[in-house]
Amino acid sequence: MVVGVLALQGDFEAHSKMLQDLGADVREVRVPADLEGLDGLVMPGGESTTMTLGIKREGLGDPLRDFVRSGKPVLGTCAGMIMLDREHLGVMDTVCRRNAFGRQIRSFEEDLEIPGIDGTVRAVFIRAPWLAEYGDAVEILASVDGHPVAARQDNMLVISFHPEIAGESRVHELFLKNVAAQ
Ligand code: GLN
Repeated sequence: MVVGVLALQGDFEAHSKMLQDLGADVREVRVPADLEGLDGLVMPGGESTTMTLGIKREGLGDPLRDFVRSGKPVLGTCAGMIMLDREHLGVMDTVCRRNAFGRQIRSFEEDLEIPGIDGTVRAVFIRAPWLAEYGDAVEILASVDGHPVAARQDNMLVISFHPEIAGESRVHELFLKNVAAQ
């Protein structure tokens, strides 16, 4: 079982470390060939404009779409959640509102309940997006002030916060459980 972490930009190292600590084999993904044979993929947080440019530069748009459509588990966090939406890769029936909670100064933490995870999840929000629009296939898993911040559609799980920064491993555990179950 090998899981990929998109490593063009953003906090991919923290995701790789967390997945390795949970016992997964991790491959950093920078070019299309890196996607071959992966059992799952994490799209990390970072800066969505820079990440979009990197995806274009490396010719990763279609390979990433194909990977998501293959049905393997994908976890998108923050900018990674933005990458999956209608206005970016166009694989998830969502539209994200960027920096929705305000800028860096508005970073905050919350304990969230997420179906499939026991107890509460420590969620660190940093210039976080929320889902401004979503279609019927999207299941909302958690909201803050009425705004969706965690959701699922088919094989895609998206969260607008950073568990890897808080040492919160249970979202990654859930992702790896989905990878093992396929
Ligand atoms: N606000 C960033 C963006 O729009 C995402 C922030 C994050 O990934 N922590 O790209």
